[in-house]
This record gives sequence, C-alpha cells and structure tokens, in this order.
Amino acid sequence: MTDTFVFEAPQDSCRLPLVFDSPHSGRLFPSDFVSRVASSQLRTGCDLFIDDLWGSVPSAGGHLLHALYSRMYIDLNRAPDDIDPLLLDGPLDGINPTAYSERGMGLIRRLALPGVTMYESRFALPEIHARIQQYHEPYHQQLQSTLDALRQQFSGVWHIDCHSMKSRGNAMNIDSGALRPDVVLGDNDGHSAGADFVDMIEQAFVRLGYSVVRNSPYKGGYLVRHYGDVRNNRHSMQIELNRALYMDEQKFSPNENYAALKKDLCTISQQIADFVRHAAA
Ligand SMILES: [Zn+2]
Repeated sequence: MTDTFVFEAPQDSCRLPLVFDSPHSGRLFPSDFVSRVASSQLRTGCDLFIDDLWGSVPSAGGHLLHALYSRMYIDLNRAPDDIDPLLLDGPLDGINPTAYSERGMGLIRRLALPGVTMYESRFALPEIHARIQQYHEPYHQQLQSTLDALRQQFSGVWHIDCHSMKSRGNAMNIDSGALRPDVVLGDNDGHSAGADFVDMIEQAFVRLGYSVVRNSPYKGGYLVRHYGDVRNNRHSMQIELNRALYMDEQKFSPNENYAALKKDLCTISQQIADFVRHAAA
C-alpha cells in the first residue's frame, strides 16, 4: 500500500484538539491516470503550496494532514457517492451526484477547466470504487479517527480545512469572473462551527491587514459539512486563501510575498492554538 497522505502530529506535551487538513495540495498522479489534459491545466485545480504554507501548525500544537495525490485524480472534498453520471459507462447504482458533479467537478472530475474534458472514455463503476478505496477512504479514516480520539480526550475538537482559490473565478465557479478577497472563511453559513471560533479567525486575519469574507463564494465543501457537529462540540470550518497572495497564478511558482504570508499564517496558527487551548480546558 503506497502512502497517499502525510499526517504530522504535534509533540505530546503540546498536543491540542486541533486538526488542519489540506486535501487539494497533492501533486502526484498514479500510473493508471490517463488524461487528455495538459499538466498546466491540471495544476489550476490544485491548491499548490497550501500544505507548506500551513506547515507550522504541528509546532503550534495542532495536527496537519495533507494529501499527496492530486484532487484532479479523486477529490477528497467530495462525498464518495458524488459521482457524475456522464463519466460512467453502465449502471448508475449507488451514485448521488450533487451540484459539484453537475458543474463537472464531482468526486472524479469531468472537466479540468470550462470546456476542457478530462477523459476520452467513460469509467466502469468498479474503476471509480478502486480510486475511492485506495485514496479517499484512507484519508478520511485518518481524519475521522484523529478527530474521534481527540474528542474523547478533550471537551471539544476543532478542524480547519485548508484551501486556495484563484484570484478570479472561472465559468465553473458560482462567482464566475468576480475578483475575490484575500481570505474566504466557510462555516456552512454558521452551521459547521461555533461563531466564537470563526470570529477569532476572522479577527486574526483582519488584524494582519487581510480582507475577509464569509461563506461567499465558498461555504465549505464535503469535509466541513461531514465533520462539523457543533452540538457535540465538533467544529469544522474552511479557509480559502487567494492564490495571488503567494503565487504567480500563470507560472504556478511562489511570488515575492510567499515568505511573508507563511510567517503571518504561523502567527495565526498560534492564535488559533491559544483559542483551542482555552476552549478545551
Ligand atoms: Zn481546495
């Protein structure tokens, strides 16, 4: 079994019920991946560098889980049955496509970019199930078991799902063409995390000069909705960082502000850790 993710835990002495995950920063493709799409077009769908930008989380006391394989192969931020019927050859048993699949960006992507189809032929359902078993399930088992163990040990658990967004949406995005703020915080319109947690993170970014918007255009995807359970003191929210803050969006390379943003995220991670330390005490 190949490793499909990296999981970094903090030292026991500073271990907090805090888990960050980055499902879309992976760059690898398995050898069975055959696509008609150029690698530069595949990269636009990925959250490059997000795992590195949040790399100080374990030293602040949080856990950091990040995928090694590309979301253009299978998307860990989708339900395992969010399968696009247009990808399938044969019976459609057990699929439950959502609006993501309708836009061509379900569990397995149909479109890399608007009008750019990923695959020349259709899949048999067992081929998709094999991807789920090898890549989707191990990641979610690691996340679920970590959150469960922390929730047993502490009075609550706090999860942050980390992403990046293009500085301007394309035709597959619900805000097509619009310029985006520095940061979008998603808590499923207030349903997946406590307001005090989200307020604290918003203030941490604003204090450092970043513009922040909540839940538009991103409310949080499958991860936040699946793992957030506020009544049981399980909080889950999403942070989308504008790629223009830290990378050249055409060349996919870090820009001159990369180190400054990484330093700010280190500061913010420590503030989040302080909040969790007090909230879980
Ligand atoms: Zn993402």
